[in-house]
Amino acid sequence: MPLAVKDLFCTEGVPSQSGSRILEGYEPPYTATVVSRLRAAGASLLAKTNQDEFAMGSSNENSAFGPVLNPWDRTRVPGGSSGGSAAAVAAGLAPWALGTDTGGSIRQPAALCGIVGLKPTYGAVSRYGMIAFASSLDQAGPLTRDVTDAALLFGRMIGRDRCDATSLEFPDAIESPGARRLDGISLGVPAELTGGSDRTAAAAGGVEEVGIEAGVLDAFRAALDRACELGAEIVESVSLPHAPHALSAYYVLAPAEASSNLARFDGVRYGLRAEHAEDLLDMYERTRHDGFGAEVKRRIMLGAYALSAGYYEAYYGRAQQVRTKISEDFARAFAEVDFIVTPTSPSTAFKLGEKTSDPLAMYLSDYCTVPMSLAGVPAISIPCGLSEGLPVGLQLAGRAFSENALLDTAYALEQALGFDGSPARA
Ligand code: GLN
Repeated sequence: MPLAVKDLFCTEGVPSQSGSRILEGYEPPYTATVVSRLRAAGASLLAKTNQDEFAMGSSNENSAFGPVLNPWDRTRVPGGSSGGSAAAVAAGLAPWALGTDTGGSIRQPAALCGIVGLKPTYGAVSRYGMIAFASSLDQAGPLTRDVTDAALLFGRMIGRDRCDATSLEFPDAIESPGARRLDGISLGVPAELTGGSDRTAAAAGGVEEVGIEAGVLDAFRAALDRACELGAEIVESVSLPHAPHALSAYYVLAPAEASSNLARFDGVRYGLRAEHAEDLLDMYERTRHDGFGAEVKRRIMLGAYALSAGYYEAYYGRAQQVRTKISEDFARAFAEVDFIVTPTSPSTAFKLGEKTSDPLAMYLSDYCTVPMSLAGVPAISIPCGLSEGLPVGLQLAGRAFSENALLDTAYALEQALGFDGSPARA
């Protein structure tokens, strides 16, 4: 099977730049473990795909190579940061693609492009050979046209790798999903990420500040109705009380890790090196000035600030505490229900340029996906309908290592929803 691979996976002898100018000309001497595993299973490398620089972004507009267009409407973004992979699959350019998800970068572009995206349990897939953004959150996963393909691809990515100490042996083999009914399955609908059960109130006000679009909520609620028809129990009382703080914690933790991970790009070891430097320090500064884009610089500054002596406890330490609270919320919720369901993204695909001048508005794109990343639990986005001709994603999240059950439930819903994933027919 031809496989499209996000640029940040190292592929031996093939340019791997993580969408950045600073890695111009870098051809890694080795291949990422997931890519090697898929190759060993018979896949061939079709192409490297565009992405936001170092996976920082929700629209693919932060790439040194320029933006990716959404095949459903080429005036709109495909989502990010795995936007190239999502668009390639949605447009029929590639049957399967690999992406990575740190706070939503597989799920959100899958939602905006009308395809399936799975962010695995943290540790299920080796990160070896993935150009790092935030190591405690980064996880590779499949972007495919349907849930069956996601299972096929994921099943060949998993497993412990001695080159990544955070990887684990997956407890079971990944099976081809086949569930038709959802009897006995409970789906929790946390008000914090969905605006609650009152559709009119939620549509009018949205989740405070975030404003989930009315068309997104309608498609989401219609999908829940289908789940009910299949026998699932919808539990509206489930709560993730700390989820509204997830984005704030994420934007301390992810930049903190990024500022450390990106310190290695100094013009000495990889890619770009600024010319005409006066001395070593000047060479570092010029290289990083020329090589990094605006968003990456913003994150490095945020991260370095949050980790500074005197601020460490107030920001990084505090954000870690919030992260623990969020994990505890999920543990409590999963004692009550099998899965958590939310819209994947508060909006459908937005216009190119619409949010580039307002980083905070852009960051809100991941409001519903970041909590699962902080908790390390698996989550899948499947298309659940259209809103004004644009795809809407439904997110299902489960307990750690529950991927088989998650894929099975997603499959039953996918069959019942019968989404037509072809932009050409829209
Ligand atoms: N959009 C989020 C960010 O910019 C998430 C990115 C990701 O998951 N890699 O950090």
